[in-house]
Amino acid sequence: MCGIIGYCSNNGHASSIIFEGLKRMEYRGYDSSGIAMISRDKLIVKKGVGTLDEVNAKYKLDKVPGHLGIGHTRWATHGGVTGPNTHPHCDCSNQIAVIHNGIIDNYQELRDELLKKGHHFISETDTEVIPHKLEDEMKKGRSLEDAVLAVAPRLRGSYAFLAICTKEPDRIVGTRKGSPLVIGLGPHKAFAASDSMALAGQIDQLYMLGEAEIAVLTPDKTTFFDATGKEIHKKATKPAMEWNESDKGDYPYFMLKEIMEQPKTLMAASQQDKELFISVAMDILRADQVIVTACGSSRYAALVGRYLFSSIGKKFCEVVMASEFQYFADSLGKNTLVIAVSQSGETLDVIDGVKLARQSGAKIVSIVNRPQSLLGELSHHVIYLNCGPEIGVCATKSFLNQLAVFYLLSFSMVHSFDMAADNIRKVSKQVAKVIEWNREGIGRIADLYYKSSDCYYIARGINFAIASEGSMRKR
Ligand code: GLU
Repeated sequence: MCGIIGYCSNNGHASSIIFEGLKRMEYRGYDSSGIAMISRDKLIVKKGVGTLDEVNAKYKLDKVPGHLGIGHTRWATHGGVTGPNTHPHCDCSNQIAVIHNGIIDNYQELRDELLKKGHHFISETDTEVIPHKLEDEMKKGRSLEDAVLAVAPRLRGSYAFLAICTKEPDRIVGTRKGSPLVIGLGPHKAFAASDSMALAGQIDQLYMLGEAEIAVLTPDKTTFFDATGKEIHKKATKPAMEWNESDKGDYPYFMLKEIMEQPKTLMAASQQDKELFISVAMDILRADQVIVTACGSSRYAALVGRYLFSSIGKKFCEVVMASEFQYFADSLGKNTLVIAVSQSGETLDVIDGVKLARQSGAKIVSIVNRPQSLLGELSHHVIYLNCGPEIGVCATKSFLNQLAVFYLLSFSMVHSFDMAADNIRKVSKQVAKVIEWNREGIGRIADLYYKSSDCYYIARGINFAIASEGSMRKR
């Protein structure tokens, strides 16, 4: 998973806005990052290894001139975390630049084809075949848009990619299959991004790009095409207001802001659709088997949920790591209920598992935070965490709200939704006190220990998952 963003406007300097968007998608990938801008019909690429701030300090990504560009924050799948492997990737003539989220399964075959034709590769990534394939198509006289139309069907695997070219310096062309890509429009400006959160505060119209659809973005006009190149008219939605919050307020960083928001978001977690919870709870009780699939923090929340389901609802369920889910696909069936948990609703392993589960006829309930997600689209029922955008890389308020959702579901199994919702509201006040009373003390302890090379979290039973969440180390 990684974050991609493209931006074009009539108002000159675009890189600072692209950089801001990348910051908001840092949770999607953070081993290396880069930006490609078109300035005076020339392509300028800056990229490097490290956190976004480290790369920016070195290469000044946010100061690259130009009115149009693309940016990427990477989570490497093919090729190590090195400068040459960092996106954007270019063609042989350095006129086309591409950023990509996903995996091109047949990249080796395409690369061999291109090598035979004399193309020169710089990276070990699967992605680099895309700009070279586009170069080939454009050499035949095709426009960038037609080149994307011709190349996309040759790519097997999952992708969302954006391409720019100095020969058509007014546009960004993007397409997707299996990986997310949204298009956002504002006055005289257009964006494409993996996550609408990257566009917070910038747009007033949002479009979800469908599988294999193509978008051609210019500052004043954005056009959509289907995979055959036929123009299509898509319906815009309004970006949700709370997802438009774009600043840290008085906090030095988003994670602290999000920790402080927890009492408020916990309150929001209690305001759920009672009918939906009761209906899902009955499905849980009726199902022959209940499998929760998730990874990272969401999986730890699910492990807590498993204890709650057992002790309150008297229902045993299994929690399967999303990347392992495929190995249990044989035992799924119509009477299986799969609960998929993902803050973003875009976690690839979770989505792949849910696709398999759907094929076997299983019922899918997802627990997500982000409105309009791929996971939501694949589910029979969606439960929202209601905690607004979580920009910090570490899960804070979303983890807490996931726990609240499992708590509510467990009590819904024994017809006590109202009592559980009431308890969550009470707890939210206690959480406010805990944060307030301990804020300085926790800061002092953190100052004392943050440089320690090892830290052990010890717990058992229901608290084991909490200890595991605490011990997740993120840069
Ligand atoms: N497969 C590409 C790479 O390794 C993109 C990675 C991603 O989507 O995170 O660079």
